[in-house]
Amino acid sequence: MTPPDPTKRPTDATHLEEGPDLPTELLNLPWIDVHNHAHTLSWEDRERYALSGCESMVMVASGYHWTPYKPVRASDVRFLWDDAVNRRAAIERGHFFEANLGLGIHTGVRIENPDELLEAMADYCDLEEVVAVGETGVTPAQHVEAWDVAEQRAVVQAQMELADAHDLPVLLHTPNQSGDSSRTYRSGIGVPGYEKNTELSTEPVLEGDNPALEAVKLDVQAMHGAGIDDDRVVASHADRNNTDYLMENTDCYLSYTIGHSWLIGVDAADVADMIDEYGPDRIMIDTDCANVLRTDPFALKRAIFELYRYGIDEDAIRKVVLENPRDVFGIGG
Ligand SMILES: [Zn+2]
Repeated sequence: MTPPDPTKRPTDATHLEEGPDLPTELLNLPWIDVHNHAHTLSWEDRERYALSGCESMVMVASGYHWTPYKPVRASDVRFLWDDAVNRRAAIERGHFFEANLGLGIHTGVRIENPDELLEAMADYCDLEEVVAVGETGVTPAQHVEAWDVAEQRAVVQAQMELADAHDLPVLLHTPNQSGDSSRTYRSGIGVPGYEKNTELSTEPVLEGDNPALEAVKLDVQAMHGAGIDDDRVVASHADRNNTDYLMENTDCYLSYTIGHSWLIGVDAADVADMIDEYGPDRIMIDTDCANVLRTDPFALKRAIFELYRYGIDEDAIRKVVLENPRDVFGIGG
């Protein structure tokens, strides 16, 4: 018999039955972020990763946001790689999580002499801290200067060949169909939370009803052309527009980017739906946190709790946020 409640009159506590079993192990579940740009964040933001249990991450140095000169030359991208190589160890020492690198050639801006980069890349792939090639992948439109689709595809395929030769996974940047907003912003002002001069976007090089999906299909062609195994390719920024195609036609992993849901419209509820539909075996989550975007270093930790609330079991959550990243990238643990 429980003693009568000492409260003056009955409260909720008097009426409640026994509460549910709470998933306390999730409080301390380590997790891995396979796609971010944490080397561009503040020290405090990186500390947030450590405070919330990040065990290991892949810091991606390939983004065109950080190459100041347009047109872009190979040496500009090389500088980004070298900056990341230069700072990696200090970042790791500062926060205790494993800080690994992904190096790649992004197609968001045309690069004048990509062959020079591809040539240099092989030696970078030999570095122990380089655990992935990417992010890369065909994009339907560029910043400042358009890049022919066939040339983009060739650069993507060449990187996949390099990855295969060095037994590294490829981190694919799949384009999103951005979420529907009820209004567009005043012209010339840009999107708040995204440091990009959107008026400098070029005319698309991929047309049709669904250029974002067409781009992914070209990436898959490149994957076949390169002869790299499907399960060595991780399609980041997976969304409702490309999930069915990738799940049904490939054996690639899909990584859902949830660090800027306000921009690309993907959140933990979507991930839960995909786990319900396809199981957790080929699914990951990443934050893509970067200094040029309004992003949340706590996003992955929050998603762990959200997935549970949405009905996903602890085993599936562990698979998605820890085991799949460990297996594919060979990091953490
Ligand atoms: Zn990114």
